[in-house]
Amino acid sequence: MSKGFLIDMDGVMYRGGQMIPGADAFIRQLRDDGTPFLFLTNNSQRTRRDVVTKLARMGIEVEEQQVFTCAMATARFLANQKPNGTAYVLGEGGLLNALHQNGYSVVDHDPDFVVVGEGRTLNWDMLETATQMILDGAKLIATNDDPNCPTSRGTRPGAGATIAFLEKATGRKALSIGKPSPLMMRMARKEIGLETSETVMIGDTMETDILGGVQMGYQTILVLSGGTQLADIPKHPYQPDLIIDSVAELVRKKDEQVVLRTPVTVPDDSANEFVASLRR
Ligand SMILES: [Mg+2]
Repeated sequence: MSKGFLIDMDGVMYRGGQMIPGADAFIRQLRDDGTPFLFLTNNSQRTRRDVVTKLARMGIEVEEQQVFTCAMATARFLANQKPNGTAYVLGEGGLLNALHQNGYSVVDHDPDFVVVGEGRTLNWDMLETATQMILDGAKLIATNDDPNCPTSRGTRPGAGATIAFLEKATGRKALSIGKPSPLMMRMARKEIGLETSETVMIGDTMETDILGGVQMGYQTILVLSGGTQLADIPKHPYQPDLIIDSVAELVRKKDEQVVLRTPVTVPDDSANEFVASLRR
């Protein structure tokens, strides 16, 4: 059976601006094999071009069409719900660009939607303006619900923290489009023309990547090269199909059988079969 991959970036391809060893070889292998893949990110700040440049500087060569951001998913969702609508945006370039490309106007009064991503430009006036707009009837949309995000200095608040603020202030609930929402997970699969049974999600975060994949019926691979520790995994009521140290384990080596760490939940035979099928 053919396979294709949806691949998270932060914690899978790189960490703190440093490429994770083997990530470049894994992507080169996918390209050489003609295996469909798409990078999936819950970061709405960057455009797909920004993402391509960031990866290229680390030595990972991909095209813009191989990047799918939660900002793109959000803009497409809104364009489908209400074509040519208006949005008040708490976010940065990636989100503004995606909305414009999908026929949306960015306004500062009477919007159809208040759309929240992450960004460093947020201030009290914007939160106050957004609160009043939501109370006046604008619908609250989150590009993603991630509470925070690791940085080289520690942790920064994510879009989910801003959303929690606005939900508390207004008593309204947001709709979140990014991972693990089926909205983004399904759009991503369709973007590269895969069937559900052909789709494998690779990520480092249980709450987004793995839950998103599990909900859709995709196969899931958790990498331990990002934020998740092995000991944390059994605490969740859902499990990945496979656990590996990093994507380097999926790279073919000459004359060598790949040995994988024992998965927590999958019996050895099916896991080995699964991995063998990935490497075929
Ligand atoms: Mg990640």
